Amino acid sequence: MSLRVELVAVGTELLLGQLTDTNTVHVAQQLAGNGIDVLGTHAVGDNRARIAATLRAALERVDGVITTGGLGPTVDDLTKEAVCDALGLETELHEPSLRQMQEFFASMGREMRENNRKQAEIPRGAHVLENPRGTAPGFIAFDERGKFVASMPGVPREMKPMLAEYLIPLLRERYGIAEAITTRYLHTINLGESEIDHRIDDLFRASENPKIAVLAHEGQCDVKIMAKASSRAAAEEMIAPLEREILARLEGFVYARDNESIGAAIVRLLAERGRTLATAESCTGGRLASAITAVPGASAVYLGGVVAYDNAVKIGELGVAEQTLEEVGAVSERTALEMARGARERLRTAIGIATTGIAGPSGGTPEKPVGLVWFAIDDGKQPQSWSFTFRGDRDAIQRRATTMALGLLWRVLDRS
Ligand code: ATP
Ligand code: MG
Repeated sequence: MSLRVELVAVGTELLLGQLTDTNTVHVAQQLAGNGIDVLGTHAVGDNRARIAATLRAALERVDGVITTGGLGPTVDDLTKEAVCDALGLETELHEPSLRQMQEFFASMGREMRENNRKQAEIPRGAHVLENPRGTAPGFIAFDERGKFVASMPGVPREMKPMLAEYLIPLLRERYGIAEAITTRYLHTINLGESEIDHRIDDLFRASENPKIAVLAHEGQCDVKIMAKASSRAAAEEMIAPLEREILARLEGFVYARDNESIGAAIVRLLAERGRTLATAESCTGGRLASAITAVPGASAVYLGGVVAYDNAVKIGELGVAEQTLEEVGAVSERTALEMARGARERLRTAIGIATTGIAGPSGGTPEKPVGLVWFAIDDGKQPQSWSFTFRGDRDAIQRRATTMALGLLWRVLDRS
């Protein structure tokens, strides 16, 4: 069986460009992965008549509509009323949801207001979609033709589990959708898109299902393997041999699978190898430290860092020699190496990593152009250094330099 839907994101903020509609992206991805076809997406303001009109028009084209937003307790939350208008239904109080909300408020030590009661009302005959993370329940309501509107809250943290745990299973069951797309991501670093293409070109051509795609972004490339099958297990079985082959061909460049970030891969490697890390950052201004501390459990392996922007800090906090700065300047191989060693020694870690470069837009010279960045990693045995020249504005250079530093660190750890 197939199921065709349209998506409606509700909120005037979306139309004013004040809020990026990430909900639609997320819902579309999840539905696609679960064999549900999305035929159109819409954004509508907080206006009852216009929401209802959008729903009615969509229901002429497809089997159902999924909305996000406008389910809250305030006067501008009108989705429920509009759904009732579109489907010709009244609202009714859903007692279990009211009780759950009362408990939720009690557990937070907050008083429940009268307008919160409105959130426990759903279109008559609708099926409740539980909200494990918040107050307002979602619901799915049907008209006499059997077409549906499913409504979920706008807050992504509440919407996502409701979609995954309640709405998608319900729709797949009701519409007898057996097919699912399973996607495996292999994240590579320091390998260009064309090089990857060259290495896996034949696999790329030979395979329709699983299908392979290469996605490039910010100095990183992801290889995506998508398999369509009747179950996740069957899809995994189709992916496995292809994944093994691709891993072999890209050996030394794949740092993680699926949702693992490069920072998480580094923290995992450091933990496995029983080593600790310190950072010394000039041009990346703490972004490297930020990427590592974003990983849960980083505290076991990452001790800290110095943002050594001014030369005085490079000298005072990291022990970079004044002579080095005078002779070769702050953006140089020697300075990077001395910074990395300084971080390692002063913070008493196994490894120190350093970045120093010119983020621009000013400060470049013919010998040292904007975008030039030196990196060094010191493990107390065999210090290593690299330089790259990145393109783009200040933000892009900082981001790319951070990604490169993470990539270099991962490679050094992977090979140690
Ligand atoms: P609440 O109970 O918080 O009022 P709600 O279901 O009424 O929830 P909205 O009022 O529409 O939802 O949105 C609440 C918040 O959820 C927004 O301020 C925004 O942060 C987030 N949000 C809403 N819609 C979207 C969207 N399409 N994409 C991303 N975030 C969204
Ligand atoms: Mg609201």
